[in-house]
Amino acid sequence: MIIYGTNGAHLHTAPLPGLACPSCATPEALQLSVFSRYVHIYYVPVLPYSRPAVTQCLHCQQAWDEKALPAAIRPEVQAFKKQFRAPIWHWTGVFLLVVGIVWASVASSRDDKANAAFLAAPRAGDIYTVHEKEGDPNYSLLKVVSAEGNLVELVANQYQVNNSHPIDDLNAPAKYSKESFSLTLLDLRTMQNKGQITDVDRPGK
Ligand SMILES: [Zn+2]
Repeated sequence: MIIYGTNGAHLHTAPLPGLACPSCATPEALQLSVFSRYVHIYYVPVLPYSRPAVTQCLHCQQAWDEKALPAAIRPEVQAFKKQFRAPIWHWTGVFLLVVGIVWASVASSRDDKANAAFLAAPRAGDIYTVHEKEGDPNYSLLKVVSAEGNLVELVANQYQVNNSHPIDDLNAPAKYSKESFSLTLLDLRTMQNKGQITDVDRPGK
């Protein structure tokens, strides 16, 4: 279960200069308190969504939220409030999300480049994660036995699993066929372009 909700934090309380209380007319007795409301997930602030403010007279104790604010002082109060922003840590979740997306896309493009490089120059021991076609949830493995010139000798794993990273489950010597078969480098590239080869692992890399 994801624990999420909203929370509030007090940002600032400051005297409102140059204004008289709309209720008791005492000058220089108003103060403004500004709060930040934010969404949290597991109590980590994700993003702030509102900044409620309360104006209070220290003399007559009358208080107004923004909706109830008398029109006579509303523009001054709203202009004064602008200087109190939510602190940057109320954006922690958004920040982490952006960092995560950037990290994932960098990692995935590096992985794609490594896969393409390994596939263009196969070596004995390379392991290809394969499935019939894009969208097929069942995956298996092909292992390179030898590679020479344009020809690659492979053995097919005799099992498949419903997991896009089948290497942990399937990569045992006994699970591969004894019969090998050959593919050309062009065949491999075609299979990758069709989405049939989804990953290339080179032991030790
Ligand atoms: Zn007052």
